[in-house]
Amino acid sequence: MTQELLDTVPSLRQGRPLVVAIDGPSGSGKSSVSKEVAHRLRLAYLDTGAMYRAVTWFCVSQGIDLTDGAAVEQASRDMVLDLSSSPHEEFVRVAGVDVTEAIREPAISAAVSAVATTLGARTELIRRQRELIEKHHRRIVVEGRDITTVVAPGAEVRMLLTASEEARLRRRGIQLGGTQTAEQLAAQVTHRDAKDSTVVNFTQAADGVVTLDSSDLDFAETVDAALVIVARVLNRD
Ligand code: C5P
Repeated sequence: MTQELLDTVPSLRQGRPLVVAIDGPSGSGKSSVSKEVAHRLRLAYLDTGAMYRAVTWFCVSQGIDLTDGAAVEQASRDMVLDLSSSPHEEFVRVAGVDVTEAIREPAISAAVSAVATTLGARTELIRRQRELIEKHHRRIVVEGRDITTVVAPGAEVRMLLTASEEARLRRRGIQLGGTQTAEQLAAQVTHRDAKDSTVVNFTQAADGVVTLDSSDLDFAETVDAALVIVARVLNRD
């Protein structure tokens, strides 16, 4: 049954809108799973977290005080951003400067919640995200924290990718090269999620959003499970 459903994936909704919205906490495997899902469905890919990180980098580079809400909001409007939309290449440029790696630095991860909790900056980034979805003719996988609920509540498929705290800390630790202390990892995963949850709820699925718990699944199994959800939801319509 699963294989039969997976076989239908490449032909799903060809030439018609297909927005796949994927939310979840840090370390849930969201980015890698979303990219592979986009590749298998031949869709564009949008990493909205990279946009919050880019604003954070921009503010830091301009000496803007991250606690000054009005200044952060203005920075989110002024920032000239060029973000890859293909699951096969990753780049983020701010005013022509390549920040692809810089925005993943622990200092940015530690500071990004200040931008994410500035409501004016969120409004601007949500506007830009919707614009990008339209630019790709609504054939795109969009991942973040508020995609299923705020950015694209009308998406054809909406999914919440979760994992136990233990699994998330383990994955993020491996991703960062195993050099982080338990305290540093907690700061980047658990504490950041706690701050982020003050503005968006991404720990419980909203109505119509399908939960995928990846705690006991490896990468390939998680991708297959996500594609089965996509196929089921679309075949039901
Ligand atoms: O997904 P990633 O960990 O790169 O996201 C970085 C940060 O961007 C999150 O911790 C959160 O503060 C913010 N974010 C958000 N809404 C989104 C995507 C990310 O607030 N849709």
